[in-house]
Formats: sequence, structure tokens, C-alpha cells
Amino acid sequence: MNSDIIIIGAGPGGYETAVYAAKRGLSVTIIESEKPGGTCLNEGCIPTKSFCRNAALMEDLKHAEQFGINDLSYTFDFKKVVERKNEVVRTLVQGVKFLMKNKLITYVQGKASFKNENTVLVNGEEYTAKNIIIATGSVTKYLPIEGKSLSGVITSKEILDIDHIPERLCIIGAGVIGLEFASIFNAFGSKVTVLEYMKEILPSFDTDLTKRLKQSFVKKGIEITNQAAVQKINKSETDGELVVSYEFKGETKECIADTVLMAVGRAANVDSLNLSDINIAFSPKGIEVNESMQTNRPHIYAVGDVNGKCLLAHAATFQGMIAIHHILGEKDNIRLDVMPSAVFTFPEVATVGLTEEQCKEKGIAYKAKKSFFRANGKAISMNEPDGFCKILSDENGKILGCHLFGAHAADLIHEISSLINKGTTVQEFKDMIHAHPTLSEVIQECGKEF
Ligand code: NAD
Repeated sequence: MNSDIIIIGAGPGGYETAVYAAKRGLSVTIIESEKPGGTCLNEGCIPTKSFCRNAALMEDLKHAEQFGINDLSYTFDFKKVVERKNEVVRTLVQGVKFLMKNKLITYVQGKASFKNENTVLVNGEEYTAKNIIIATGSVTKYLPIEGKSLSGVITSKEILDIDHIPERLCIIGAGVIGLEFASIFNAFGSKVTVLEYMKEILPSFDTDLTKRLKQSFVKKGIEITNQAAVQKINKSETDGELVVSYEFKGETKECIADTVLMAVGRAANVDSLNLSDINIAFSPKGIEVNESMQTNRPHIYAVGDVNGKCLLAHAATFQGMIAIHHILGEKDNIRLDVMPSAVFTFPEVATVGLTEEQCKEKGIAYKAKKSFFRANGKAISMNEPDGFCKILSDENGKILGCHLFGAHAADLIHEISSLINKGTTVQEFKDMIHAHPTLSEVIQECGKEF
């Protein structure tokens, strides 16, 4: 079968690109070996957000008395939590299947591998196209240590289908995945310990922000050890406990748990593609691409986690659009350097643009100003006073970055993201009216500080 484009993988990089290509009049064959929706929908963003909603409810219940609700008594049916999560995923997978019913899109179920640079094999059938987009995403990584395969040592994929709340959960890695699950299972009642190799949690984020987040975690009873290099995991023969051994400041320490979550990053999913045979350049970080998402074979593109540039669902979608524009010979104004990202902890974290650390590294003169949720009427009414907003501007007042920590930070960040995208200055921002009383006023107040 021949089409204008073959897309391998139906995650946010693949299915969104297929829909966009079809909208632009291109015929597409999209190939998926699992369920449509990819990691994001099936074992990432969406199922964790369903858990997050449960965790938020649990947090509210903990503080019910502050709202005059006394003598609450309830039981927590974790099976129901997993069932609800599965239902949310099922509904959205149906939505993606519906989107694939476009007359210009052919959806093929199966594992694809390259036969040659214009032909892909699936279930013994050949599919050809002038252009091919690889959007196969990423897979969970395990630390190459003793004990990584013991039962009870799991990744972000398995923890979503766990049938009980672990009493003691040890999380290896304080990146995005580690911290989201730390927040969720802390709210569910687990005793959570996080072991992180680097000096800070969320190592690539603004340090001011991550320090505050760490304090907030510790206040909730989550134990976090930084500069902990995990060495091995053993299972105690007497009671089946998992013993995680790590080096901390030259000493060997142990963390005892019944479940260990490995959250130490993800690796490009390229194994079954047969890339070497068609000489596509890739490294352990992913398939190498240029700014148009072309691989070293100009008619073959790679978008999303598989190219290792930015492991975010929305990055994959926009990289896919860039590839389609390139195929159509069009220019666009998509700015991949203005990439908002959010961490769904309690409270949420969100960030866009440069951090103070990056400004210093690049030698950019900057100003940083802050405002606080504790001075915001809506945040106080919501009983969510924890958090701040930090905005950075350059010497001419142009907004460079924003780092938010607090209630609904993930939704609030887009205001500044749009302003950075359009090169707005803090002076221009100051004239923009915000409704009262809203959390957005935290951002407005920050602007007024300049
Ligand atoms: P990550 O790279 O964000 O974090 C992994 C952490 O593990 C790092 O902080 C690293 O220092 C630590 N680590 C590595 N080896 C260690 C060791 N031996 N001992 C202790 N700590 C160790 O990876 P992740 O959290 O697994 O997430 C994977 C990807 O998925 C990321 O790129 C992330 O951005 C993306 N993701 C994004 C979201 C979101 O945007 N909300 C949610 C989930 C995942």
C-alpha cells in the first residue's frame, strides 16, 4: 500500500501529526503495535492525572475540619481508583480511535520495521511512502544494578496497575515521574522515601523553586535524600522486605521498602525498527534530527521522545507539525525554545523559558522578581497559600522565563509562555488587566515588582 506519509507510532507525536497531515490533504498510513495514544494516554500523563485527582481529594479530606466538616468517616477503595483510571484511559483511547477514522488516514495495527528507506513492513505486509515519520516514543529505563528484576521493583508503567497501596514506597529518582508518584502515594497514605543522585530534586528546574518544593514535600512527611547513589537492591529472606542500598557522603545506607519505583529516566524506543540497516544515525539519547526533525535520511523524520530532544507530549505534537510543514515546503513560527512544562505534584510546579542558572551560564544580564501565593486572595480562600511566582527579564525588560510553584501552576504558566513567545516586555505586561480575585493575579503582582 502506498500513501504520502507513513507515521510509525500513534502517541501524541504520531496521531496528532496524522490528523494534522490529513487536514492538510496528505494521505497517511499510521502504524501502532499497542493501543493508540502512546505513553501519554496509556501509561503516562493521563492515568497519572486520574490518580492525581484522587490524591487531591484525599488531601482535601485531610483538611476537612478547617472547612467545618467534622467527624468524617470513610474507607478508601484503591481498586476503584485503578478502575476509574482505566475508564478515563478507555474513553480517551476511543477518542483517538475516532480521530483515526478519517478517510485520508489508514490505521494499521502491528509492529513496524524498515525494509528499505521507503518501505516499512508490518505483519508481513509492505507499506511505502515518499516520507516517513518515526514517532515511536520512549520506554522506561531500569538502573543496571543488582536486584533490578526483583518482584516489587517496578517502573511508572507497573505502578499504575498496582493492586494495593504500598506501605513503604522507595522511589529512586527525584525527576518528574519520581516526584509526581511521591506526591500521589503520600496522599494515598504510603510512607514515601525518595533517593536522588543529584544535589537538587528536579535537577534541570529553577533551584529556588525546587528548594521550596522540597520543603513542602518534607512538611507532608515525604523523606528525600539528595546525593544518594543507589548501588543495589536485596530482598530479605525472612520477611520479603526490599532493601535499597545507596552511598551517601561516603557511607553506605539502606532504605527498607515493600515497593521500589525506578524513576530514572526513559530511553528512545528504537529496538524493533531496523534503523541500522537503513543507516539512520542514532545514539542512546535517540535518533539524531535537525531543526526540521529530519534524520540523516532527509525524507525520514523523527518526532517526540524517540529523538530525545524534549520528552514531553506537547513537544512531540509540535515537532510533528514542524515535520509536516517541512514536507509541504512551508515555513512556520513554532518556537520549540518556548516550551512550557508542568509537574503535577502538590502543589504543582510549572516552568517556561530560562532559569537564573541558565542566564548565568549564558552570561545574560537579568532581573528576577517574585510574588507569593500567600498574598493572593483566591489562594488564601482556597486554603492554598504555599507557592510563588518568579519572572526573569533581560536588561530591556523582555520576559525571559517564569517559574511557578503553587495551586494550578500548570494552567497559569501559559500566560507567560505566550508573552515570551511574542517577545513581550514586563512594562507591556504591567498594563494588562487581570480579573479579581484570581490566581492569575499572583503573576500580575510579580510583573508589578519590576
Ligand atoms: P528524569 O530524567 O526527569 O529524572 C530521573 C532522575 O533520576 C534524575 O533526577 C536523576 O538524577 C535520577 N537518578 C538517575 N540515576 C540515579 C541513581 N542511581 N540514584 C538516584 N537517582 C538517580 O526522568 P523521569 O522522572 O523518569 O521522567 C522521564 C521523562 O518523562 C522526563 O524527560 C520527563 O520530563 C518526562 N515526563 C514528563 C512529565 C510531565 O511533564 N509532567 C511527567 C512524566 C514524565
